[in-house]
Amino acid sequence: MKIPRIAIIGAGIAGLACARRLDAAGCAVELFDKARRAGGRMASRALVVADSTTLLDHGAQYFTARTPDFRALCSEALMAGVITPWDGELRDERAGTSATHDEDERYRGQPDMNALPRWLARGLPLQCQAAVQALHRATAGWSLEISGRPAAGGFAAVVVALPAEQTAALLASLAPALAAEAAAACSAPCWAGLFGFGRAARWPTWRALRPAADHPLAWLARSRDGHGLIAHATPAWSRAHLEQPASTVQAALLSAVHQCAPGLGRPAVAAVHRWRYALVEKVTGVPYRFDSGSALAVCGDWRLGPRVECAWLSGDTLGAALPGLLHKTAQA
Ligand code: FAD
Repeated sequence: MKIPRIAIIGAGIAGLACARRLDAAGCAVELFDKARRAGGRMASRALVVADSTTLLDHGAQYFTARTPDFRALCSEALMAGVITPWDGELRDERAGTSATHDEDERYRGQPDMNALPRWLARGLPLQCQAAVQALHRATAGWSLEISGRPAAGGFAAVVVALPAEQTAALLASLAPALAAEAAAACSAPCWAGLFGFGRAARWPTWRALRPAADHPLAWLARSRDGHGLIAHATPAWSRAHLEQPASTVQAALLSAVHQCAPGLGRPAVAAVHRWRYALVEKVTGVPYRFDSGSALAVCGDWRLGPRVECAWLSGDTLGAALPGLLHKTAQA
C-alpha cells in the first residue's frame, strides 16, 4: 500500500501530537513551522543577568493532566526527564487562597517549557523558519508555498495545527466550512513581561501570584533559579494595549509588578513578548475536523480549550483517526 505523505503546518503541541500518531501509524509526515523551533506557545527565553542566565517560560506556565491518554504521555515524559511536577506554590488573591486546592496533576517542562515539544519532535522531519503562506492543490496532491523557500509538494493531505484566527485566514478560500468554524473561535491576546533581577533584589514570599480581579496582571511567577520574573497581563489589559509600543507596555507592566512586589527595585534586564493569540475563549468542543473533499484537517487548542492538554488531545485524536479517514476517502 502507498504510504500517504502528510504535511502538518504548525509544530506546537497539537501538531506534534498529531505527527507522532501518524508517524507511528506508518504515514510519512513532514512538519513546517514559522518559528525558529517547535513548541509554539510552550516557549522559554533566556535572559542574561550579570554573569548568569535566567530561563523564563513566557507562554504556558504549567499544564494539567486530567485525561488518561495525556497522563500516559506525562508518565513517559517524566521517565524521559523532560517534564517535572509543578510545585503548586501559588498565592491566589482572586480566590483568597495560598496554595492550589484541587486534585489536578500539574507539570512543567524540564529544564524549560519547550522541553516537552523538543522531545515530541525527536526523529520527525521538521522544517523551522518555514512560514506557510498558501496551499495549492494539483493532481500530484497539495503543495505548500513557503516564504523564502522552494515549495514543498506531493502531499495526500494537509493538517493545519495553528491558532484559530490563522487557520481561518489560511483556509478561507480552500475549505470555507473549516475556515468558518475557525473564524467563530476567538482568542484573547496576552502581553508578557520578562524581568531579570540582580542577586540583591528583595523577593516576596510567593513563587507564583494570581493578583485580585481588578489588577492589570493575571499572573506573576518567579523563574526556577529565582532571579527572573514573568508577568502576564490580563486579556482585557492586553486587548486595550495590543498595539502600544513595546517600551510603553514594558514600563506599564513593570509598574504593575512593583505594586505586587515593591521590594524588587529596577530589573537588570527586561523584555516583553506579545502573544496575539494566547488563550482561546470560544471553542468548538469537537477535537478535530476533516474535510474529505479537500483532504484538509484542522486541530489545535481552539477545538477543546485554552490548555496544553486540550491542544495535545486535539492533535492526538486527529492523528489516530486520519489514516482511516484518508483510506475511506480513497475507497469512495
Ligand atoms: P501553538 O502552540 O500556537 O502552535 C502553533 C504553531 O504554529 C506555532 O509553533 C507557530 O509558530 C506555528 N505557525 C503559525 N503560523 C504559521 C504558518 N503560517 N506557517 C507555519 N507555522 C506557523 N496552557 C496551559 O495548559 N496552562 C497554562 O498555564 C497556560 N498558560 C498560558 C499562558 C500564555 C501567555 C499563553 C500564550 C498560553 C498559555 N496556555 C496555557 C495555553 C497553551 O500554551 C496553548 O493552549 C497550547 O500551547 C496551544 O498549542 P497549539 O499547538 O494548539 O498552538
